Amino acid sequence: MRRKLLVGNWKMNRNPVEADGLAGNLRKLLSEATFADIVVAPPFLSIPAVVSRLKHSNIEVGAQNLHAEASGAFTGEISGEMLKTAGASWCIVGHSERRQLFGEDDRLVSAKVQACLRAGLRPILCVGETLAERDAGQVDAVVSRQVEAVFQKLNAEIAATVTIAYEPVWAIGTGRTASPEQAQEVHATIRGLLAKHFPAFVARTSRILYGGSVKGSNARSLLGQADVDGALVGGASLVPEDFLAIVEGAR
Ligand code: PEP
Repeated sequence: MRRKLLVGNWKMNRNPVEADGLAGNLRKLLSEATFADIVVAPPFLSIPAVVSRLKHSNIEVGAQNLHAEASGAFTGEISGEMLKTAGASWCIVGHSERRQLFGEDDRLVSAKVQACLRAGLRPILCVGETLAERDAGQVDAVVSRQVEAVFQKLNAEIAATVTIAYEPVWAIGTGRTASPEQAQEVHATIRGLLAKHFPAFVARTSRILYGGSVKGSNARSLLGQADVDGALVGGASLVPEDFLAIVEGAR
């Protein structure tokens, strides 16, 4: 059995003071939710406050991005080693907003996953097609390309530690969610890819999350799909009661 994983992506929301308050509320509300793994990913600057507030709780902390290099002349950037030292244990990589707004391509995303692994951070690799790609019948081709670009550089033991988040771009922040059947279909494709390239245990144990307008009202049906092992949640993760309702959907 794969344990469900719920990840809250706070995006560029909540300064350190606000993040401390949100983390405190989540800590209280989610203290009984020990049936699943829970991670929150605040903005870089708010990570120390959240790490401190969530110490010895059942909620872990992640980052939303990192630089591919460990250190050097990269003004304004943050390395995996810095995030790890600040108390993060996970890192989202290749979110569609990074790909679309900041020009991250498969090659850079792969280098960033490698940087996570070197730093001891658990990567959450985001993949997903645009609406135009879906309409053109390219879902499998796009998602396979994005997954293979990263996994071709990994051995089986490491591959099994990388979480994949399928996030159709047309469903992120739009209120439009993939149907449980649409999500399941792509998740099965991704698991099939892992089975094709690695020994069976990788596909059996790897967690594949769904992301894109997940809410309390649709979480249970999405999380009930055979190959949906959790959710990456944006907007709703900023509202403690809404995030709780999603987490409860994994029970
Ligand atoms: C996300 O940012 O990864 C996301 C899924 O956002 P939302 O839940 O707001 O669609």
